[in-house]
Amino acid sequence: MPRCKASGRTAVLSDSLVPPSYALSVLDAIEGAGYEAWIVGGWVRDALRGSAGHDVDVTTSAPWQESARILRAAGMAVVETGTKHGTVTAICEGHPVEVTTFRVEGSYSDHRHPDEVRFVQDVKEDLARRDLTINAMAWHPIRGMLDPFGGQQDLESGVVRAVGNPSVRFEEDALRVLRAVRFCVRLGFSIEQGTQQALLDKAHLLRGVASERIGQELDAIVRSGRVGTALLEQPEVMCQAVPELAAARGFDQRSVYHIYDVYEHIAHVCNAAQAFTAGLAVPELQWAALLHDVAKPATYSQDVEGHGHFFCHPAEGARMARAIMRRLALSSDVAVPACELIRLHDERMPATALAVRQLLARLSHKCAGREVSVAFSLFDLRRADAVSKCPSVASWASELDRYSALLRDEVARGPVYSVRQLAVSGADVMRACGLPAGPGVGMQLDMLLNAVMEGEVPNNRNALLRWLVGNAR
Ligand code: ATP
Ligand code: MG
Repeated sequence: MPRCKASGRTAVLSDSLVPPSYALSVLDAIEGAGYEAWIVGGWVRDALRGSAGHDVDVTTSAPWQESARILRAAGMAVVETGTKHGTVTAICEGHPVEVTTFRVEGSYSDHRHPDEVRFVQDVKEDLARRDLTINAMAWHPIRGMLDPFGGQQDLESGVVRAVGNPSVRFEEDALRVLRAVRFCVRLGFSIEQGTQQALLDKAHLLRGVASERIGQELDAIVRSGRVGTALLEQPEVMCQAVPELAAARGFDQRSVYHIYDVYEHIAHVCNAAQAFTAGLAVPELQWAALLHDVAKPATYSQDVEGHGHFFCHPAEGARMARAIMRRLALSSDVAVPACELIRLHDERMPATALAVRQLLARLSHKCAGREVSVAFSLFDLRRADAVSKCPSVASWASELDRYSALLRDEVARGPVYSVRQLAVSGADVMRACGLPAGPGVGMQLDMLLNAVMEGEVPNNRNALLRWLVGNAR
């Protein structure tokens, strides 16, 4: 392998394909030591689309031990992130670059993990083991583009296509079924016919894939903001990924307030949550939208007139969502507020400042420090829910603007909804009321908090102490 200095004469294929300097340093170091190295996968795909900012992955003929040695000798920190699969991560100019040895994967007899990983010498073999044509391109600043499967053409035409025989590829690793859906919805691409057929034929294999891998892909779909599209366009795949959603499909709500079945309603709520937040819905809101009515089929009952009811579906939904998100190994930073949103999504509350403060107080138990953002998300979820039922209740969405306005006012005022925010402490209570330490102090603080929340007394120290003396029990 001739030495080549990638950072010297840089062949730029398009204006957007200008690799960051830290990626060139990694290529230079490895190629300077006599190995071959290419930028591969997501960075190439996204750079060709003109969207910068993707992490750089490098594929190389160097065994991982050599990559680690060479990159350390070049002054970079190297973390051995996945050496079983030939991966180390170099930190260059503060940026992580994953460097993986050219490899092919053996069979996936359990549809979970490759039975073996074999390191190879030809980059084309490495590209052939990748999932989609748009993800199977390698690029080098001097040698240019390596695109044996027509990834550029598919990228231009907006097509997601499996590399090789789609059925075989999905059988090897069924997670690719979900990955194909993820890239379709994220990029707004259509799916090639043969790949779509294989997707339907092999979606059931997702049931055998490790839940946390499914969780990662689903989370990426949810965070793409297009989970509603995924639900509507690929229901078979989505119901294999989250089997609890299957019961919602075609489930007639028998309600004058609903024109959609439960599953379609969920999809519309996901889309509306995005629309109401200008595409910036936080992950907990998106997950809550996806799972808010998951318990409807299980809680269904019918009255004598034949109307459907779903008593307690929010509480049961929160319980189911917690189990689902736990199984999918989602972060509790997302799962906990998402479950709270589900629990509260249908609860009546008056449009008053007090009700808003009480909501913040409730949220402060499980979402401490994030109550305000979760409360805004709750109103967005309820708005999205309202416009996804039937035209006659859609106007409720604008009623919800009043709640958001009240919340904004509260935030501007510095709301008090927790004893920690009171301008007096437990010690003050003990002194003012002559109380010994114990549960009585907590009770006084709770009473004081109620009085402040109800506007009976302002949250300032003197006023609170006066109130304590006057109201001590
Ligand atoms: P992003 O991280 O932006 O979602 P990406 O292309 O980097 O996109 P990753 O999941 O990080 O996607 O995977 C990196 C690359 O590894 C992919 O581009 C693809 O070439 C390959 N790849 C990842 N998972 C699989 C898989 N299950 N089967 C085959 N190839 C895969
Ligand atoms: Mg990636």
